[in-house]
Amino acid sequence: MSIENEPGGDPCDAGARARSLDRIYHYLDGELEPREVEVIKAHLAGCTDCSGEYEIEALLKELVRRSCTAGSAPEGLRERIRERIVVERRTTIIRRLG
Ligand SMILES: [Zn+2]
Repeated sequence: MSIENEPGGDPCDAGARARSLDRIYHYLDGELEPREVEVIKAHLAGCTDCSGEYEIEALLKELVRRSCTAGSAPEGLRERIRERIVVERRTTIIRRLG
């Protein structure tokens, strides 16, 4: 049952997706071993869902880091940014489909 490397498809089922996301978070935190980094990089290249999540998380991390440097990050800032990005991403996808 190999559904990886399917271009344009949805390579992650629900279970695989949760594991991939977990890896993405660790990857962004620099907690993965080089071998695991290669695995997740390869997956991101072939899985649009996960690469989208990766982009959101990377952007979030950068934004939160910046606001933390500027002062103290307000509670819920991360969630507010995330919601905004998710909404904009959905809008983009809907536009693409229409
Ligand atoms: Zn995936």
